[in-house]
Amino acid sequence: MPIWNPWHGCHKLSAGCQNCYVYRRDESVGRDASVVTRTADFDLPRRRGRSGDYKLPPGSTVFACMTSDFFVEDADAWRPDCWQMMRERPDLQFHIITKRIHRAMDCLPDDWGGGWPNVTLWCTCEDQEQADRRLPVFLAVPARHKRIIHEPMLGPIDIEAYLDAGTFELVTCGGESGPRARLCRYDWVLATRAQCVRHGVAFHFKQTGARFVKDGRLYRIERRLQEPQAARAAIDYTP
Ligand code: SF4
Repeated sequence: MPIWNPWHGCHKLSAGCQNCYVYRRDESVGRDASVVTRTADFDLPRRRGRSGDYKLPPGSTVFACMTSDFFVEDADAWRPDCWQMMRERPDLQFHIITKRIHRAMDCLPDDWGGGWPNVTLWCTCEDQEQADRRLPVFLAVPARHKRIIHEPMLGPIDIEAYLDAGTFELVTCGGESGPRARLCRYDWVLATRAQCVRHGVAFHFKQTGARFVKDGRLYRIERRLQEPQAARAAIDYTP
């Protein structure tokens, strides 16, 4: 799945950021992840290859800003051009995952209206505190496609009150990766799934994380097996 990183770098915001992989990766190469810079791929959706075809082929699902946060303050001057590229490419499906949903209303373009059909907003809620802080805000943000992601899932999270509104099309759960990964318990994942089933909202178990507890037993799972192990649980739900 194509990734478009128009800028790189971010600032830690909440518990889910503690072991941020952007920081981990940058530390390993002596780079300061707190410095936000535009990347050479800034205009990727506009770029064409030698044949004249777009580098991002029509019909692609594009995850935006995976080494930053799309709504980070440092990128306020650059974001309008990104919206313009999304406007120019209605043939792509853009997915934006954010912990800064509180900034969305100030950062959406003037012609956003009720949202664009080719843009999906994902709100990250890693624990109950952030779910209760971010989801009421997210409910008020207009968008054609809204999804919730608990990753890294750091505890049991009750979102039933928010699912009642019927505006979310998917909830995804995943554990934490990396050497300092915190535990993810299968019971938490199942409880979220049960909430989704009760409210007729699709559910996806994305990955176990590196330290996964099931039936009272701790499993240490290497990165390449975290998604396949989650898939083997076969608990995804489509209403
Ligand atoms: S918001 Fe995302 S990219 Fe930014 S520090 Fe937190 S985990 Fe890292």
